[in-house]
Amino acid sequence: MTKQIIFSIIFIFATACSGSLAQKDVEKTITEKVVLVDTIPQIRKYVLAYPSFIAKDSANYIIWKDGTKMIYDDGLEKSDFDKKLNSPDLEDQLEIKYKKGENYSLPQINEDPGRIRFEPLFKKMYGQNSSEVAKNLVTINWLPSSVNKKLRVTKINGVAEKIQAISNELDTLDHLHKYLDNPGGTYNWRKISGTDRLSVHSFGIAFDINVNKSNYWRWDKNPEYPEYRNQIPLEIVLIFEKHGFIWGGKWYHYDTMHFEYRPELFIN
Ligand SMILES: [Zn+2]
Repeated sequence: MTKQIIFSIIFIFATACSGSLAQKDVEKTITEKVVLVDTIPQIRKYVLAYPSFIAKDSANYIIWKDGTKMIYDDGLEKSDFDKKLNSPDLEDQLEIKYKKGENYSLPQINEDPGRIRFEPLFKKMYGQNSSEVAKNLVTINWLPSSVNKKLRVTKINGVAEKIQAISNELDTLDHLHKYLDNPGGTYNWRKISGTDRLSVHSFGIAFDINVNKSNYWRWDKNPEYPEYRNQIPLEIVLIFEKHGFIWGGKWYHYDTMHFEYRPELFIN
């Protein structure tokens, strides 16, 4: 490890502790793969991931810039995965680690990093209802020189700019276009079928790249113990991950065309 890298880690750690890490620095930690194993308290990941909204953490709360306090650990005993999925808190949301990059093994039972979502966090940033979310949507041009489709995504947290950057990079990679030419949609305010939970597509932060090349655990012949299937090349996944998007193909309950913006899961 060079002196420069050691200095960078100390610098990032120091700024992270003071709670003043800017968005661009967070992205730097994502792209430069600076790993801070167990140095950042879990709760602080929200402050670092969403600096436009969350000012700091204090004891068991995250403190929003508008002064709102949101509890981190609700103290409730949740004995199984479904309880965490259906009534999570901010702590549960971070419990299952997302494995960035190409070195990951097939997910174990219920290993679904990012699938547990504390809805009030997303509603407060992206909109409490469909009309509030819609006010923040902008149109991006998906793969303008090949697929050329207009899609609506949120501009909050720079999501639209990030998807446009992903799109521009993918546009130059002809061999990947067949996986990207039939996007299933971005924004859609709805509940996940068969559940009371809002789909993350409700917030305009998710992207389904191609319905025709998709594998989804609910469509498996034995959805209780789904047999993992995937057709999406890792090359596409790595480009999305570089911009803070997790991939549903790394879930036990796999959804392989699905990507969503979840920067808190990229901070170690
Ligand atoms: Zn999706």
